[in-house]
Amino acid sequence: MPLLFLNSYNLSTPSLFRFRNTTYRQHRTWLTIQTRSKIKGSSLSITRAQKADGFDGKEDIVIVGAGIAGLATAVSLHRLGVRSLVLEQAPSLRTGGTSLTLFKNGWRVLDAIGVGSDLRSQFLEIQGMVVKSEDGSELRSFRFKDEDESQEVRAVERRILLETLANKLPSEAVRFSSRLAKMEQTENGETFLELVDGRRLLAKIVIGCDGIRSPVAKWIGFSEPRYVGYCAFRGLGFYDNGQPFEPRVTYVYGRGLRAGYVPVSPSKVYWFICFNSQSPGPKITDPFVLKKQAKELVKNWPSELQSLIDATPDETVSITPLVDRWLWPAISPNASKGKVVLVGDAWHPMTPNLGQGACCALEDSVVLARKLADAINSGTLSIEDAFRSYGSERWPRVFPLTVRANLVGSLLQWENPVACSVRNNLVIPKLVRLGPILEHTNFDCEPLLYRE
Ligand SMILES: Cc1cc2nc3c(=O)[nH]c(=O)nc-3n(C[C@H](O)[C@H](O)[C@H](O)COP(=O)(O)OP(=O)(O)OC[C@H]3O[C@@H](n4cnc5c(N)ncnc54)[C@H](O)[C@@H]3O)c2cc1C
Repeated sequence: MPLLFLNSYNLSTPSLFRFRNTTYRQHRTWLTIQTRSKIKGSSLSITRAQKADGFDGKEDIVIVGAGIAGLATAVSLHRLGVRSLVLEQAPSLRTGGTSLTLFKNGWRVLDAIGVGSDLRSQFLEIQGMVVKSEDGSELRSFRFKDEDESQEVRAVERRILLETLANKLPSEAVRFSSRLAKMEQTENGETFLELVDGRRLLAKIVIGCDGIRSPVAKWIGFSEPRYVGYCAFRGLGFYDNGQPFEPRVTYVYGRGLRAGYVPVSPSKVYWFICFNSQSPGPKITDPFVLKKQAKELVKNWPSELQSLIDATPDETVSITPLVDRWLWPAISPNASKGKVVLVGDAWHPMTPNLGQGACCALEDSVVLARKLADAINSGTLSIEDAFRSYGSERWPRVFPLTVRANLVGSLLQWENPVACSVRNNLVIPKLVRLGPILEHTNFDCEPLLYRE
């Protein structure tokens, strides 16, 4: 039931509303904001009258998208005693897909929102990385803890990450088959959200966590992300009798082509192949074609790549054109407009070359949730100011990372034989130091304690 309606009946005492296992006290300031304005009897009757007409109710906080950013934001708010409704276009949580490498900043956030240990127990800790040339010879290897004692690296299955986050929310907190089609601001700063099936909701606050093609970002004024000139095949190899690899990331660097793999668990191994392509090309979903193309690209490369592709179930193989969008100061729109704000890829799509997209989405979630909950609970800061403060705090973090990820990707996708030879025979073996490269994984994050 929307918070709004609970409040309209209980003006004298802070209302209590119960999530799955926890009782929350709803804070007066927020309650005051809601109940003093036109929410009482009249708004209820409008709601009832309009339901037949596709009106699906009024919500305080709507999060668009149940990906990593959306679910982590909902869980963070939930821990801080603030309720939200998540709208997801898909009929269920994403069940296919592969995995993501999460560095220590991602783990700090997962610990802060109470899911770190659940996940740790399911995924192997990755000890280091090895870089090879296309003939399989080793160019360089690193141990993460030698470079940074506090580093923690694990490849996490996306499906399990999403399920673990969703399990921390009340079952009614995520509404599936709810694809946002249109947004419109009302005169008093609320937002009408229209779904593709014609349902409409009115929201006080909208948090756009709807990924790289975000309609919320478009509404704020952001341009489409830009294709960076290469695509990635991805898959998850399954080994019922145990996978044979050491717990380290292996990269193979060629010309305009690179591949990598990393053990995820005792029986699963994630792999990718990035290849240059002038255009994103047609969307291919047939797993037979995808695997054939992927194998063709690395046919003379270390043979484990071929066997990994063979060990990959159809539903986990995919191809993605890689994109990013640079948040140029004074040119790009802000992360928020009024009471509408962006989190994760919706705001700062970045290439995966540093393994930081999801890590940054997790960081965004806790920073935003804290600022929003403080604004709601203290009443000293407006929602708009809280969102501006979130944007100013996060921009210096995500803009340089987006640029850096792009530059690293360009270097790794070089085609020129001389440049590739210098990279593989001089830069990687002699000049690269991993410690400074991983400095961006430092991120302090206090636990979000349950607020009564
Ligand atoms: C090849 C590749 C490898 C990567 N590897 C890593 C890695 O190793 N480490 C790392 O940290 N990051 C990695 N990333 C980045 C990471 O995947 C993203 O940064 C992360 O998924 C962003 O999460 P998100 O929730 O913002 O967006 P998404 O995961 O895209 O979630 C968006 C959600 O919104 C929903 N949605 C979209 N439109 C609508 C709508 N109109 N209405 C309702 N719902 C909607 C979608 O269905 C989806 O559930 C990688 C990315 C790629 C492409």
